[in-house]
Amino acid sequence: MSCSTNSQVLQSWIAARQARVIDWQRQMTAIPALGPENGGTGEMAKARYLESVLHDLGGVEILRVDAPDTRVPDGVRPNIVARMPGAGPRRLWLLGHMDVVPPGEAQAWKTDPWTLQVDGDRLIGRGVEDNQQAIVSMLLVAEALRATGVTPDLGLGLLFVSDEECGSRYGMEHVIRERPDLFGPEDLIVVPDMGVEDSSLIEVAEKGSVWVKVTVSGRQCHASTPEEGRNALVAASDMILHVKDVQARFAAVDPLFDSPSTFVPTRHEENVPNINTLPGKDVFYVDCRILPCYACQDVLDAFAATFGEIARQHGVDVTVEAYKTQPPTPVTPVDAPVVQRLSSAIRKVLGVTPRHLGIGGMTVAAVFRAQGFNAVGWATLGGTMHQPNEESRISRAIGDARVFAEMLFD
Ligand SMILES: [Zn+2]
Repeated sequence: MSCSTNSQVLQSWIAARQARVIDWQRQMTAIPALGPENGGTGEMAKARYLESVLHDLGGVEILRVDAPDTRVPDGVRPNIVARMPGAGPRRLWLLGHMDVVPPGEAQAWKTDPWTLQVDGDRLIGRGVEDNQQAIVSMLLVAEALRATGVTPDLGLGLLFVSDEECGSRYGMEHVIRERPDLFGPEDLIVVPDMGVEDSSLIEVAEKGSVWVKVTVSGRQCHASTPEEGRNALVAASDMILHVKDVQARFAAVDPLFDSPSTFVPTRHEENVPNINTLPGKDVFYVDCRILPCYACQDVLDAFAATFGEIARQHGVDVTVEAYKTQPPTPVTPVDAPVVQRLSSAIRKVLGVTPRHLGIGGMTVAAVFRAQGFNAVGWATLGGTMHQPNEESRISRAIGDARVFAEMLFD
């Protein structure tokens, strides 16, 4: 058989697995996998379920790279690595995250978030789109390889990780730190955790982020005698109105990105609890997403200079510090093999011409890029993740799985 025939064998097998998609989605939706930050006990129950599925498929080499975490009952956050051999040493890696976000406002859900609802092609429940649809697509490829007995040119590598929704420290960041040897320089890495409804968007770059904490210190006094104090709230408000001046100094445009750098005042801490005290301290935060041409420190320096001048005008002190920074990671070049192979598979299987774009971040693809691997984000998604009545489509899981299957052949 020629390679293209082998790909077709896999694809037609996958195309008839609607019932399997529903079954896997139903089982996973019934296991809330919430991280401790979200009031949950972690991903272990879901990991055990996925391990049993992989075990039942057979022919899959399963490995665990768990991250110690004393906040959860099991003491670890599970990360599963599953591999199936190809004809050559190269591997296609696909990554799905097991954790989900809480349902949010209960009244906004039309049905129980932890009980899968099936409505024709539509599947509804917490986690069905983010990121169980990817997990299902990945399992379909593994199941198809096993059921058809086809050996593809590339090996298949599946990663089921924890902690994506809360920063990936116990998830992909842990796996790549502990086992960088798993990934070869020629391997292809796709993270099916972002995308658009018509399948056309391949994410190849992300902005860096700087979360700036600004602390304004004046002098507290009784509100009836304002001349005796220095109002930190008024000074902070003046600074907030000048965030756009700082942003203007980072105005570069990059054709790879759909927007320039963004600087957004977000959180404000409560100052005084009562109305008749002039506040002597005020703390607020700015979320900055910067294009790869900028450095995090330059952003902090620019805020320090602009806010320092405003502080002088108000007779207060100000400190500008990084609450959290994530420098922009290297861009995955559009001519990288993973981009080329994924693009041609999307064209061939789905009949869609893909476009390449940088986004505001942050996905797990950036964890790979930071380590020097080319990785892309791609999936067919309707964009209901984190919302009430989150939904997926059976056809999207199957279509994406067929694209991944096609990528296994030279
Ligand atoms: Zn996700």
